[in-house]
Amino acid sequence: MVHFENVVKRFGDLEVLQGLNFQVQPGERVTLIGPSGSGKTTILRLIMTLEQVTDGVIWVEGEPLSHMRKGERLVAANEAHQRQVRKKIGMVFQQFNLFPNMRVLRNITEAPVHVLGQSKEQAHTRAKELLELVGLSDKADAYPSQLSGGQQQRVAIARSLAMSPDILLLDEVTSALDPELVADVLDLLKDIAQSTDITMLIVTHEMGFARDVSDRVMMFDRGVIVEDGPPSQVMGDPEHERTRSFLKAVL
Ligand code: ATP
Repeated sequence: MVHFENVVKRFGDLEVLQGLNFQVQPGERVTLIGPSGSGKTTILRLIMTLEQVTDGVIWVEGEPLSHMRKGERLVAANEAHQRQVRKKIGMVFQQFNLFPNMRVLRNITEAPVHVLGQSKEQAHTRAKELLELVGLSDKADAYPSQLSGGQQQRVAIARSLAMSPDILLLDEVTSALDPELVADVLDLLKDIAQSTDITMLIVTHEMGFARDVSDRVMMFDRGVIVEDGPPSQVMGDPEHERTRSFLKAVL
């Protein structure tokens, strides 16, 4: 479903991804681990089309995500497919990124109404269900600034689920939270992983969570995959010294 083919990403002289190849199957939960600066967030931002690849192609559901260049070859995207696919990819960020001037309910209904064309009533009904799921039914009329960080992050998760994503990208979603708020958000994500078949790509430093929720862990270092396998192998019995030293530092 998501296929990186020789993906290179450079920022100026810095080559962040060095010809990356991997595939993620529908419904797979893949955690990306690795030291700071190894390119994990960049991978998610490329899938979200917040960044463009320098070379290579990212395929989603068999079509290139946008117009891309592979060496001399231009790989043209089908614009209609591109629009469809983008609607099906959700991302939750470290810093929540809620609309500060909108109440919680409207934060959740805004994109379903304006991007998916749902009626306000339909979007409200779904938003209320999602607020219940994330345990915030009583906060529908609050503004984000009236919520704790953990509550804001749970709203951000509800907001991304309101778009019925096929693919959910989670970028260090607990890193900005006070330690006592982390467990609630991780438990919610575990519930979502168990109760849906959404494909998830997760960047996290929470190794226990990664082990519980992932089918597969990819260890990155300097823009290349060092190790790729089930959590029991990559985290429990790593083959590579680089993975061992990384895990030793974070566990
Ligand atoms: P962390 O765990 O610290 O979030 P990461 O593995 O997610 O790290 P990225 O955020 O993908 O790493 O960054 C990889 C490299 O690319 C870093 O050296 C970073 O400084 C650089 N980088 C990322 N975005 C940009 C940008 N827009 N312009 C220039 N350099 C960038």
